[in-house]
Amino acid sequence: MSKQPHVVVVGAGAFGGWTALYLLRRGARVTLLDAWGPGNSRASSGGETRVIRATYGPREIYTRLAARALALWKEHERRWRRQLYHGIGVLWLVEHDEQYEKAALPVLRDAGVTFEELTGAEVTQRYPQINCAQVRWAIFEKDGGYLTARRACAAVLEGFLAEGGEYRQLAVQPNVLPRGGELQGVTLSDGTTLTADRYVFACGPWLGSLFPDAIGDRVRATRQEEFFFGTPPGDRRFTEEALPVWADHGTRFMYGIPGNEWRGFKVADDTRGPAFDPTGGERLPGQEALQTARDYLAFRFPGLEGAPLLEARVCQYENSPDEHFIIDRHPAAANAWLVGGGSGHGFKHGPAVGELVARLVLAGEAPDPQFRLSRLAK
Ligand SMILES: Cc1cc2nc3c(=O)[nH]c(=O)nc-3n(C[C@H](O)[C@H](O)[C@H](O)COP(=O)(O)OP(=O)(O)OC[C@H]3O[C@@H](n4cnc5c(N)ncnc54)[C@H](O)[C@@H]3O)c2cc1C
Repeated sequence: MSKQPHVVVVGAGAFGGWTALYLLRRGARVTLLDAWGPGNSRASSGGETRVIRATYGPREIYTRLAARALALWKEHERRWRRQLYHGIGVLWLVEHDEQYEKAALPVLRDAGVTFEELTGAEVTQRYPQINCAQVRWAIFEKDGGYLTARRACAAVLEGFLAEGGEYRQLAVQPNVLPRGGELQGVTLSDGTTLTADRYVFACGPWLGSLFPDAIGDRVRATRQEEFFFGTPPGDRRFTEEALPVWADHGTRFMYGIPGNEWRGFKVADDTRGPAFDPTGGERLPGQEALQTARDYLAFRFPGLEGAPLLEARVCQYENSPDEHFIIDRHPAAANAWLVGGGSGHGFKHGPAVGELVARLVLAGEAPDPQFRLSRLAK
C-alpha cells in the first residue's frame, strides 16, 4: 500500500491500547478513542492487578500467546523504564480434577515455559502459610506473576502518544451499521463523524451494544468481585516477597495475589456471576461473595482468618460462549475488525493480541479459526 492507512481504534483497554500501538509501529496513522479513558473504573482492564500465567490446560494457543506476551511485557518495561510486571511466580494448586493441569504440562514444555511440578508436601514445605489440605500436587510457573492493570493501560497510552498516535476521549455511538460491505465512518458523542480506512473495535463488554447483530449476546458481561484483605502489622508472610500468585483449581476456581506494593491480599472467585451492565451497573460488593472470600481465606490461609476487608472491587468479565477470544472481521464490513471476548483471561495477552491484530489489519492475514466469529453459531 503506497498511502499510509488511517486506522481508528475504539477502546483503549488491554486489547485496544496495545493494538493501537502496534498499528502505529507498522506504519499506520492511528486515532485511538475511548469513552472514559484507558483502564477506567468501568473497563474490564480497570483495577490494580491482573495475573499473568501460561497454564491453560490443553488450549495451546493461549499458552503460546501468554509466552509471547510475557516477552513483550518485559521488553516494554525496559523501553519505558517502569515496572508493569512482577515476576513472583504463579502456583497452581491441583485438587481432585487434574485433567486441566495434566493437559497443560506438555503444552508448557513445548512452549518453553519454565515450571516445576511440586507435591502437596513440597508446597507446604515451601509455603507454610498455605494450608495444603486437598492439594494433590501443584504447578509452579516461575515466570508467572502479576501485572499492574490500569497503570499498564495508562503506560501504553503514554507510549502510543510518544510514538505519534492521536488519542481522543469520545464515545462511538452504539449500533454501528456498515453499508455496501464497508464501514463508512463512526458517529461520535460530540455529534461529529470520524472516517478512516480501517477500524478496530476493542470495546470489551460493550462490544455487543455496538454491534447488536454481529456480536449481540455473544459477548456477555458478568459481575465479578475482588476482595483485598489486611495482613497483621509487620507480618511479611503474605506479601509478594514471601508468596507467589496462586490459582486454586478446586470445586470453585479461587485465585489471588499476595499483598502487592503494600496493598491488601487479593482474593477473587473465577465463577461467573450474574449478568452485569458495564455502563449503569452499581459496583457495590455483595455480602455473599464477601463471605465466600472470607471462608476461603480462613481455610487456605489460616493465618489470615478474620482478616479485615480493606478494599473491594466489582468488575465484569466480557465472556464469549466458549471463552475463546473474538478476533475477526465484521461479517458485513471488510474494513472493520472486532476484537474482544477476553472472558476473564484477556489482560495478560494484551501486547501479543495487539501485535497479532496489527498484522491482521495491515497485512491482511487471516485470523486463527479459534478466534473467528463463524465458530459461534447464533
Ligand atoms: C475482576 C477481573 C479479574 C480479571 N483477572 C484477570 C487476570 O488475572 N488475568 C488476565 O489476563 N485477565 C483477567 N481479567 C480479564 C481481563 O481484564 C479482560 O479480559 C481484559 O482487560 C479486557 O480488555 P478489553 O480491552 O477487551 O476491554 P476493556 O478493558 O473493557 O476495554 C474496552 C474499552 O472500550 C471503551 N469503550 C467501550 N465502548 C466504547 C464506545 N462506544 N466508544 C468509545 N470507547 C468505548 C471502554 O471505555 C474501555 O476502556 C480479569 C477481569 C476482571 C473483570
